[in-house]
Parts: sequence; structure tokens; C-alpha cells
Amino acid sequence: MWRPRIKFEHRPVRYDDGLVRIGGNTPGITRGLRDPDGSVWALLALLDGSRTVGQIVDELVRRFPARSLREVRKAIDNLNTAGHLEDASETELSDSERERYSRSRAFWRSVDRTPDRRSWDAQLRLRQARVVIIGIGGAGGAAARSLAMSGVGQLHCVDADLVELSNLNRQGLFTEQDLGRPKVEAALERLRQHNSHVELTGSREHIEGPDQLRALAVTCDVLLISADQPSAGEIRSWANQACHATGTAWVHSGYDGPRVSIGVFRPGSGPCYDCARTAEQHRRSVVSPRTAWAPGESMKREHAATASSAAIAGGLAAHAVERLITGTSGLAVNQDYGLNLATYGGYDALRLEQPWPDCPTCGSEGRG
Ligand SMILES: [Zn+2]
Repeated sequence: MWRPRIKFEHRPVRYDDGLVRIGGNTPGITRGLRDPDGSVWALLALLDGSRTVGQIVDELVRRFPARSLREVRKAIDNLNTAGHLEDASETELSDSERERYSRSRAFWRSVDRTPDRRSWDAQLRLRQARVVIIGIGGAGGAAARSLAMSGVGQLHCVDADLVELSNLNRQGLFTEQDLGRPKVEAALERLRQHNSHVELTGSREHIEGPDQLRALAVTCDVLLISADQPSAGEIRSWANQACHATGTAWVHSGYDGPRVSIGVFRPGSGPCYDCARTAEQHRRSVVSPRTAWAPGESMKREHAATASSAAIAGGLAAHAVERLITGTSGLAVNQDYGLNLATYGGYDALRLEQPWPDCPTCGSEGRG
């Protein structure tokens, strides 16, 4: 469990004019924080390594009711991002963990360009993290397996469906013996076989709105959306609204024929999913109207996917989740990424430089 503590060398100083300086005397590291109501200083006092983030947030909001959970979580996240915090919790890995994850360590060491990381930091962050996955079919099941094998500490899987024969061409968590079983039940059993050290939980439920996702998002470090009901765009927008409210990082993944895509979002740091969605709706409204060819009644639209396209989508999503958890540098957030399996090339995906001014989710902040 992550127990943030201010690094000794970064210990803050409060001035009588309401300014707090943190980070010592080193240019580029030291910075000032405005603290008109004393809540920043109170937060810094709580960051002594004896509490979890949840405990710190609860305590501060109790003492400063005008501060929201999201604000406090964001403040802690900002201090952490700026390099002022360290983890005071037990950081020793067991011998068996060191053996199991030795290749993972080599991978993260090669990818991460953040200075002064210990070589096991990424693994420890994964172990301390909780991820909620909505939809454990093709992409979601592949992502769940990758995250379990990678040693994410807690995984919570949400899916209301039963395993059907038509799932078995691509949903690698399930076998013929699982037909008719709830997906969550079969998935947890399979994931436990992959890694018994991961705390695995699940629930059979349909997601019917942003409030449900908000209740899940507040419990986790990253929310992964790999479901497409009622539609991919709708549930992603719900996730965007939920995570915007809670400050939770989130990822979506999916595929449409050979086009595999993921989106990586960290609220409060740029355009949100609904910014891009609104911009796209605006673009479509000003181009010439289109008419789609109507299929005959004998033709049923089916989700075009194979085991490999689903696994690629899930693998890309799991890697993005791990990047968000480990904080390794180099992956731009608040945008979609697309891969066209027809050519193995990238394709243009939703991407904005700035928030959309009339975004229904974050637009008011830009104007305010
Ligand atoms: Zn927005």
C-alpha cells in the first residue's frame, strides 16, 4: 500500500505571508505553493509516511470541508509528480518475487528515463496498485491476464455476461469447459492460476451510467474500459465523466476490424475524451451528410475480431495501464492511439492539442 512521505531533502518551509516552499534550495526542484487557508501545510504534515493516500484524503477533507476529494488527490498527485514524495512502505520484495519479475525489472529499467528510480520501483508500484477492468472479453480478458502476470496488486473484474461459443475465437481467458459459466467466475479462476499473489475480485453487473463507474473509479488507481455496451462511445464518455470527477486515470481499448485502438487519459492535464468526441461530432456536422448502405435483413452486423486482434488491443491497453501506474516517462496522455493491422501502420486517432471550449465534461473549467 502506497504510503507517501515527503523526501527529507525536500522538506517544506512555511513563510508568514502564506507561501510554502518545498524542494530545498535547488533551482528546478524547489517551488512555492500558495496556502491561503492552511490546507496545503496541513496536507504536508499528513504526508509523513504513516498513512495511505485514502487516509490522507479523508483526514484533510474532514478538516477542510471546502476541499474536494478530487482536489486533495490531485494535490498529492502533483507533489508526487514533481518528485517531492517517496514511498515509506515496506519496499522489500521476496526472493520468489525477484525471480518471477526479473525480466519485468529489466524491461522497466530499460524503458523508464525518470532519474533516481530504484530498479524495483516499477514492480513495487505495480504491486501497490489497484485496477478495475470493465468488460473481460477479448481485449479486457487479454489485458486482465497481462496485468495479473505483471504483478498488479489488486484486480477487480466487472462483466455481466456468460461465456458463449462465439466468444471462443478470441477471448483467451475461456475454454470449452467454461461455456455457460459467468465470465467473471471463469476469469477469476484462470487469472488465479496465472498469479496467486494478485488479490482478485469481480462482480457481475451491467454498467448503466457514469455514477456506477464513479463508485468504481474512486477505489482504483486506473480504470480500464474494454466494454462496448450500450456503445463504445457512450461507455467511454461515462468513464470520462466519472474519472473527471474522481481524478482517476483511465484507459479504453477496443477494435473495429483491423483497426485496434486505445485511449490513455489522466484527468486535469489536458483535453478529455469528451473534448475529442465533441470536436469529432462538430466536424461531422459541417461536412456533407452521408448515407450508409443498408444491409439486407439476412445480414447481421458482427464485431469483426480475431484472437490476435483482441490480444493486441488488450496488450496495448495493459501496457498503457502499467505505464500510468509506474509513471514511466515518454507516453503522451489524453489522446487515442490507433494501429491498423491491415498495414501494421498507425492511423489517425482522436487527438486534440487543447481542450474543446464547449466540452460537456470539462468545458466549464476552461471558461471559469
Ligand atoms: Zn473535455
